[in-house]
Amino acid sequence: MTAHPDLVAHAGQFPKRFADLAPGIWSAVGFAASNVYVIEGPDSLAVIDTTESTGAAQAILAELRARTAKPVGQIVYTHSHRDHISGAAVFAEGGAPEIIASHRFASDIVGDRGGPQKALRDRTRRQFGFGLDFPGERVNLGCGPGDRPVEGMGAGHLPPTRWITEDRVQASLAGRTADLIHAPGETPDHLIVWLPDRRILFSGDNFYHAFPNLYAIRGTPYRDFAAWADTLDRMLRMAPEVLAPGHTLPIVGAAAIAERLTDYRDAIRFVVEATAAGLNAGRTPDELAAELRLPGRLAGKPWLQEFYGRFAWSVRAYAAGTLGWFDGNPTDLGRLPPAEEARKVIALAGGGDAVLAAAEAADDPQWAMELADRLIAAQDQVQAALRVKVRALRIRAEAEVNATARNYYLSCARELEAETP
Ligand SMILES: [Zn+2]
Repeated sequence: MTAHPDLVAHAGQFPKRFADLAPGIWSAVGFAASNVYVIEGPDSLAVIDTTESTGAAQAILAELRARTAKPVGQIVYTHSHRDHISGAAVFAEGGAPEIIASHRFASDIVGDRGGPQKALRDRTRRQFGFGLDFPGERVNLGCGPGDRPVEGMGAGHLPPTRWITEDRVQASLAGRTADLIHAPGETPDHLIVWLPDRRILFSGDNFYHAFPNLYAIRGTPYRDFAAWADTLDRMLRMAPEVLAPGHTLPIVGAAAIAERLTDYRDAIRFVVEATAAGLNAGRTPDELAAELRLPGRLAGKPWLQEFYGRFAWSVRAYAAGTLGWFDGNPTDLGRLPPAEEARKVIALAGGGDAVLAAAEAADDPQWAMELADRLIAAQDQVQAALRVKVRALRIRAEAEVNATARNYYLSCARELEAETP
C-alpha cells in the first residue's frame, strides 16, 4: 500500500515533541490529534486544551511533571471538539481546576437524542481511519499523527466551570494577564487566548498548516465561512509574534504569522465570493465544485494544501449552507430513485455484463466506482461490482493528498470487502 508523498511528508508538522515555546510556556505537539499548551505561573499552571484521550494526556503530563511540580489550577477549552476536551481529568490530577470555555461551548455538537448519531459515529470512524492499520493504511489524520492513543467518547472530559459570555474579557491564567476572546471559526464556540505582554496567540482550530476544514466529511453543520474569515482578520490585527494553533506546529515570527493568517482569510473569502458569484450566475454546486480553483497566488502556499480540508468540498458546503440542498435545476426536484435510474441506464448501456466489463476496464478509478455503484443499486452483478469498487477505492486512496479522504476510502474498502466472498 503506497501513499501520496506529500501526505507522508506532512507528518513533519506534528513531530512528537514537548518543547519550550517561550519562557514559562510549553507546547506538546504530536502526542495526540491536537496540541496542548501549558502556561507556568508563580504558583500554578494553566493548560490550554487537553487532547482526545487520557492516554495522550498522561504522556504529556509525564513530560510536564519532569519539569515542574506546580498544580494545574486552570484549564481552557478553545472549543468543544472531542479531540481538545477529553484529557482534562488527567491534568486535574484529582483536584478541581477552574475549567474555562465559551458560553457557546458545544453549540457545534449534534444533539444526543433523535439525531443521526450512528451515521456521525460511522463517518467519524472512517474519516479518522480508526479501524485502519498504521502506517500502511492510515498515514496521518491531516491535522495530527496517525499513531496515538484512541479511546471511547470523551473518556477524561470534565465539564466547564466558568463560561465566558463577553466578547473579550481580561483574565488571569496562572497569574499572568490573558485576554479570552470569542472567535467563531472552525466552530461557533471558539475561545482564543491572547497573552498581550508576550504577543502569543493560542488560536484553537482557526488556523492549522493545511487547507481549512470548512466542511468535514464525517458530517458537520454549516460552518460560518464569513465569521471564520472575520476572525482571521481580527487575529491578524492583533499582530501576534507567536501563533500556537490547536493542530500542527507553532509559528514564531510576526511576518510569517501575518502571511499565513492573510492567506487563510483570503482563501476562505475566495470560496465565499467565487461560489456566490457562480450561484448568482446560475451554476450548480456540482458544476462549481468541478470548475472553481483557488487563485494562483494562494494555490501554491504550503499552509493551504488539502491535507485536511478541501477546496471543492468547501464550495459545496457554502452552497448547501446558504441555499440548502436544492441545486436550482428542476430535474433535481424529483429525481428517479437510485435503483430505478441505475436499471434504466444499465439497460441503455447494453446490460449488466457490459457495464461490469466497462467498470473492470476503466482507467479512471472514479468512473469505475460510479459504474459499480449503478450495478450495486440495480442489484446486478453485485459481488463483481463490489470487487471493482474495493479496488478503485484503494487506487483512489493511494493517490490522495487529503488524509480524511484517504482514510474514508480505505475504511469503506474494508467494509465492502467484508461483504464480498
Ligand atoms: Zn481540533
